[in-house]
Amino acid sequence: MIYLDNNATTPIDPAASEKMCQFIKEHFGNPSSLYPIGRKVKEIVTEVREVIAKVIGASRTEIIFTSSGTEADNFAIRGVLDALPEKNEIITSAIEHPAVMNTAGYLEKKGVKVIYVPVDEYGIVDLDFLKKAITPQTALISIMLANNEIGTVQPIGKISKIAKEKGVLVHTDAVQAFGKIDVNVNKLGVDLLSMSAHKIYGPKGVGALYVRKGTDIWPLIYGGLQEREMRAGTENTIGIVGFGEAVKVVTGTRDKDKKRIAKLAEQLKKGIEERIPKVKFNGHETNRMKGTLNFSFYGLEAEAILLALATKEIYVSTGSACSEGAEEVSHVLEAIGLKPEIARSSIRMSLGRFNTEEDIKIVLEELPEIVKKLREISALDIDED
Ligand code: PLP
Repeated sequence: MIYLDNNATTPIDPAASEKMCQFIKEHFGNPSSLYPIGRKVKEIVTEVREVIAKVIGASRTEIIFTSSGTEADNFAIRGVLDALPEKNEIITSAIEHPAVMNTAGYLEKKGVKVIYVPVDEYGIVDLDFLKKAITPQTALISIMLANNEIGTVQPIGKISKIAKEKGVLVHTDAVQAFGKIDVNVNKLGVDLLSMSAHKIYGPKGVGALYVRKGTDIWPLIYGGLQEREMRAGTENTIGIVGFGEAVKVVTGTRDKDKKRIAKLAEQLKKGIEERIPKVKFNGHETNRMKGTLNFSFYGLEAEAILLALATKEIYVSTGSACSEGAEEVSHVLEAIGLKPEIARSSIRMSLGRFNTEEDIKIVLEELPEIVKKLREISALDIDED
């Protein structure tokens, strides 16, 4: 199998699974229990909180565990709006993950004004537009750090600066960026930041929200007093332990992985551009998570390419995993100006720690053949405009 869908999810790191197995066998206590077996688990959860906090330049009381990146995004946006009832506007971008986009859509139905900042052809948000969109009613700006479909990295530091001048809070969805590029809440200047374990070789079903000390926010989930009364529900202790181990590994290997993945991705990109005619690369050449490659193959349906590759056990994506199977075209590709038929011909290949040179070699042997054959049987006209 050649797995080129690391932005959808990553295989679990052996160190993380090992740690989780050991934890399951040895600890079952509830971290809220006051006797030793509960306190021990609380101690372990606190250690992980510390590990995550340290990596992003935060303190451990600023980390709240959630069930996912999606919950962290919902919590940040809805929690801030709940805490600031006198404000009823938020600003986000046109290329957010559904976890933010559909939260914004829900809020619109509830009467919140949502302003969607457009992006340029590379997926970078329009800072002038953003600046002008801020009003005294703006509660929050929520812009992702790195895009899941095309990998574009946003100038969050600049956005925070603009926001601070107007006294507006900033949330960034760093679910894709965390573990791939440097993520430091102070350099970014953000008040809230979402993370997810399964994008960094940790388990699924656990994430975290960084909340800067003093930020006005209400919980999303009410119940018990867990997570300093900010997120009720007994913690996913097994997931948290796996998350912590994954963070430790990723922190140690990130710089090396980053270089290696960038090199492999560049080989793949060059190889595709040299071997396959009529392709378009989508995304920013430099301000991008280098392991994310998005290509349009003129005249084809992406799904046909995906399925043909899958028969060779090469796994790629047609875009965001969450919109896989959806009829409409990717809102990200639409936002960067692709025509619907071009957007529908687009494949995302996202590389990760476990990819090898051999993987790239095989893909470069198989993909050109598949595209050639599909184009021969395709009735679609190839239009490069
Ligand atoms: N935000 C971004 C940018 C993502 O890529 C994803 C997952 O694909 C999420 C949020 C959702 O994270 P989770 O799968 O942990 O809910």
